[in-house]
Amino acid sequence: MSHWYLSLFSQTFLMHRYAAHGSFTMNKFWERFFFVFAYITMGSSYLSPRVYAIMHRMHHAFTDTPEDPHSPKYFSNVVAMMRHTAKVYVSIQKKVKPINERFLKNTPKWDAMDELGHSWYSRIGWGAVYVGIYVVFAPSLWWFLLLPIQFLMSPVHGAVINWYAHKYGYTNHKLNNTSKNLIPVDVLMLGESYHNDHHKHASSINFGSRWFEIDPVYYVIRFFSSIGIVKLKVAPSVKVVSEF
Ligand SMILES: [Zn+2]
Ligand SMILES: [Zn+2]
Repeated sequence: MSHWYLSLFSQTFLMHRYAAHGSFTMNKFWERFFFVFAYITMGSSYLSPRVYAIMHRMHHAFTDTPEDPHSPKYFSNVVAMMRHTAKVYVSIQKKVKPINERFLKNTPKWDAMDELGHSWYSRIGWGAVYVGIYVVFAPSLWWFLLLPIQFLMSPVHGAVINWYAHKYGYTNHKLNNTSKNLIPVDVLMLGESYHNDHHKHASSINFGSRWFEIDPVYYVIRFFSSIGIVKLKVAPSVKVVSEF
């Protein structure tokens, strides 16, 4: 349970809102601090903030077209889509194809951390830690069925939004894509579920747009800003929507 939210926090705060959308800035110390935090909380399914950012910017730029790294339109099931997403991720990580300059701009980089997080020693090591925790603490064998979710926590989070929030839910904004708000009060995905709102105002630090769409991470960012950990961008008065 805490693994779910902590690793999701790393994904939504560091990878999504900071690395991909640049919704706020922070100094090198805090950037490295949150890299380490992401490494510990994502563990076996660590994602590179830089690769995540590039892939996610492609999603916003090419939503629901063949160049979208993960559009449910082109796959018969969620597993097939996630396998394709993993392939795109690896091709960006291994620099198989040249990447358009506009997707690379201001992406945070820490090669040594990415190398460690992507290594099989690290992935399997974390997996062994999870198994160890289950062996010691699981009240019954049924709990072991949850282990695959722990191993693959980040792709599971990705699948919830990239598949379900492009298929099911309601819309606040008429957009040229299939994005939906998956649930009206997002207690599950730390604000990520307001995906239709997010496609409309991609660089906003608040993912919700109606009064009941409470985005917990928005309040965390406001708090971090008040104590000087992050700096909010002064939004231009007319238009808040960024390129991505
Ligand atoms: Zn989307
Ligand atoms: Zn986004």
